[in-house]
Order: sequence, then structure tokens, then C-alpha cells
Amino acid sequence: MIGTLYLVATPIGNLQDISFRALETLKTVDVIACEDTRHTQKLLNHYSIKNRLVSYHAHNETQRAAELAEMLKTGKSVAVVSDAGTPAICDPSFRIVELAQEIGARVVPIPGAVAFVNALIVSGLPTDSVFFGGFLPSKKSERICRLEEVKEIPATLVFYETPHRIEKSLGDCLEILGNRKAAVARELTKLHEETIRGSLQDLVGIFAAKPTKGEIVLVIEQFRVSNFKFQISDDQTLTARIGELEKEGVDHKTALKKAAKEFGLSKSEAYRIVQSQKAK
Ligand code: SAM
Repeated sequence: MIGTLYLVATPIGNLQDISFRALETLKTVDVIACEDTRHTQKLLNHYSIKNRLVSYHAHNETQRAAELAEMLKTGKSVAVVSDAGTPAICDPSFRIVELAQEIGARVVPIPGAVAFVNALIVSGLPTDSVFFGGFLPSKKSERICRLEEVKEIPATLVFYETPHRIEKSLGDCLEILGNRKAAVARELTKLHEETIRGSLQDLVGIFAAKPTKGEIVLVIEQFRVSNFKFQISDDQTLTARIGELEKEGVDHKTALKKAAKEFGLSKSEAYRIVQSQKAK
């Protein structure tokens, strides 16, 4: 009979945030595949669990997944854990899940902590529609492109961030998404847990003034036209704003670009709107 693959969620900080079922699974499987054996050993020691650990991380995922699949084929049970939270959420496990399905093994989730869900529920922002974007790219140009892509998604946006990038990312979010409400949740479930709420502009100021440490989730309000300084309304149309800028001596191309930014539009969207307003 083919074995079972368990995807076991572990704590994101506080060691007590683990289910009875997760502990029972970690005790009884034939092998636990984990990102960092020393890290997971601490969790096992805390709960007096003795079991075999093998490393399974981004750098050996393909080869190790094949070995784990061979074990499943011989009827052995395998648990996958990550350093924190739920495996597969910005962590390895995709390859072994794929292989397990190919060989007909059962794949069973053992639910528990996920950092972005906990950040979301303390953010104070709507939770009815949510877009989780994983980590924002580390390169500024790619980050800007990504933010442009997600700008108009009608959902609360959630991203993982690192302490050394948060200030720059907040600045880029302000520039591309407009001055939305946001929250930075830091060190959730740990000693220095805090959630800082404010507008993106407030948060840029806060993080510029004080370098930060620890693990971070960024939560941002969903797209609304009112996130931008100017709104398309009868008394302030895009065309009128372009006209104003031109009267101030700005050339048409630059005026279109500037007005587009003020209205929270891309240049091509602004161009289309101006053309349709001319046609009326
Ligand atoms: N698998 C994990 C999960 O279920 O959330 C995510 C792993 S990802 C490699 C690590 C990122 O998750 C961190 O850089 C941070 O953005 C976020 N994170 C993990 N633990 C956190 C915590 N205690 N507080 C805030 N963010 C956390």
C-alpha cells in the first residue's frame, strides 16, 4: 500500500501554536522532512518527540522529493514541515505534493498558523476579499511592475516583506497604489509582536525614522478611486486637469503623464479617457 504525505503546519513564533493532531502526526510518521533540521529539532525537543528528520529545502527540493516519493511508494508515511507556519506557503513542498499525487499517495493537510492570515485579521482592513502576493520582488523595477499589476485588484492586498526592504517597499506602494490605509504586522505571536496601522504615507514616515527588525507582513487597503488625490468627476475631469497643467506651461505629453499619475491611471488609460472625452 502507498504511504501518506502529511503537510503539517508548525508555529510562526509561539511554540504553543500547534495542534494536537500535528504533534501526533510528527510522533507517528516514518520520517519528517524539514527545511532546517536544527530548527525543527528544537520544536520536537520542546514536545519530547523523537523521530527521524531529513532536510528538504529550496536547494535540494527536486532530489529529496524523488527520495521521499520512493519512501511513499514502499508504504512509509512522510510529514513535511517548514521553519514556520504552513508548508507550501512561500516555502518548499510543491514538488513532493506533485510527485505524491503522481504515484497516487494521499496528501493530507494538518492545518495551523499562516503568517499572512494572522496579519490580515489584526490589520483592521476588510477580510471579505483578499489577494495574497507572497514576497514583493527585491529589485525596485520588478517591484514597481508587480505593484502596477495588482494596483486595481478589488481586494485587500497582503505581502510578505523583510525588515531591510520594508521602507523602500512602502515608498513604492505609496507611489504606485496611492495613499491607502495599511498595516505592518511584525513578529506575530512573539515577544515583540506589534501591528502598526496608518496611511501608507504615515508608515513611510514611521519606518524611515526607525530601522526595524524581525518578520513582517504588509497589509494594504483595496483599490478605490478616492485613494488618489484627484478624482474623475464632473467638476474635475482628466482633460480639464491636463488643460490646467498646459496653461502652467507644461507640454501636452508631460501634462498627460502627470495628470494620469494624479488620477491613479496608467498613461495609456489616461490617453484612452482623453480620446473618449474628446469624442463626446
Ligand atoms: N510558511 C510561512 C507561513 O505559513 O506564513 C511563510 C514562510 S516565508 C519564507 C517567511 C515570511 O513569512 C517572513 O519573511 C514574514 O514575511 C512572514 N512571517 C513568518 N512568521 C512571521 C511572524 N511571526 N510575524 C510576521 N511575519 C511572519
